[in-house]
This record gives sequence, C-alpha cells and structure tokens, in this order.
Amino acid sequence: MEYTLTIIKPHAVRDNKAIAMLSMIAEAGFRIAAMKMIRLSSFRAGEFYAEHAGKPFCEQLVKMMSSGPIIVAILSKDHAVRDLRSLVGNTDPEKADPGTMRKIFGNSIRENAIHASDGVEKALKECSFFFSEMERFSF
Ligand code: ATP
Ligand code: MG
Repeated sequence: MEYTLTIIKPHAVRDNKAIAMLSMIAEAGFRIAAMKMIRLSSFRAGEFYAEHAGKPFCEQLVKMMSSGPIIVAILSKDHAVRDLRSLVGNTDPEKADPGTMRKIFGNSIRENAIHASDGVEKALKECSFFFSEMERFSF
C-alpha cells in the first residue's frame, strides 16, 4: 500500500466541484486515509511550493493557493503516487488527455483544479506537511 497527497485547489472548491472530484478519485480505487478543509496563508503556500521559488509563475501560484479554502487529503492505493498523477493528467488542462481530472475540472494551467505528489519521497513529506499522526489512518 502506498500513500499520496492531493489538494483540491481553491477555485475548484469555490465552484463546488469537490464532491465530483472526490467521487472520481474513489471510483479510481483510492481510499481516503485523511482529509480536511483548510485555508493556507501565503507563507504556508510558499513553503509548500518552495521548489518553485523564483519561477515566473510562483507569485501567482502562491496567491491562487491561498485565495480560499482547499480540501487536502491523503489517498492510499497500490502505486498511489503514479496512479494519481496519471488520473490527474498534464499540468496544462489543454494538453491533458481526455478523461483526466485536469481536462474535466481545470480552467487553465494556473487553475488546474488539483495537486498530486510527484514522487514517493515527496508524498511522505507532503503528507506530514498537512497532517499529524492523530489525523491520519491506515486505510
Ligand atoms: P502540482 O504540483 O500542483 O500537482 P504539477 O506537478 O503538474 O502540479 P508543477 O510544475 O509542480 O506542476 O507546478 C505547480 C503548479 O504551478 C501547477 O499545478 C500550476 O498550478 C502552476 N503552474 C505550473 N506551471 C505554470 C505556468 N507556466 N504558468 C502558470 N502556472 C503554472
Ligand atoms: Mg508539482
């Protein structure tokens, strides 16, 4: 069993897409091992996306990620990291394959609806960034 982290981004929560997105994730065979709705400060959003510090889109990314509530969840499944990345699709919804979540729910490369950890080590770090041991379960 492997764990990965997902975030339903603020614009998708605002547009009431979260339930449809979580249904699609469940139908793809993921279990929810932790979940909550929170709002990131711009400081915490900057920490989360520290790898992108200094890139031209970074300021807008931090602004968007702290613009309203997000739903953050730990998902479990065999090959959860790889399988969620493929369910989510290309960073740019215009380039994403039909049937992928960003194709269906994304508005643009900036407002691409959902985050998925991009490696097993990264997933571990991202899960502990958001959740304490008390908040997560071994589904
Ligand atoms: P994420 O980390 O959110 O799952 P990703 O791994 O597909 O997305 P990254 O390269 O890590 O893509 O970029 C992080 C986020 O920054 C993207 O999801 C997107 O919201 C935003 N982003 C990336 N590239 C651009 C860009 N060229 N213009 C605007 N926003 C961008
Ligand atoms: Mg990424």
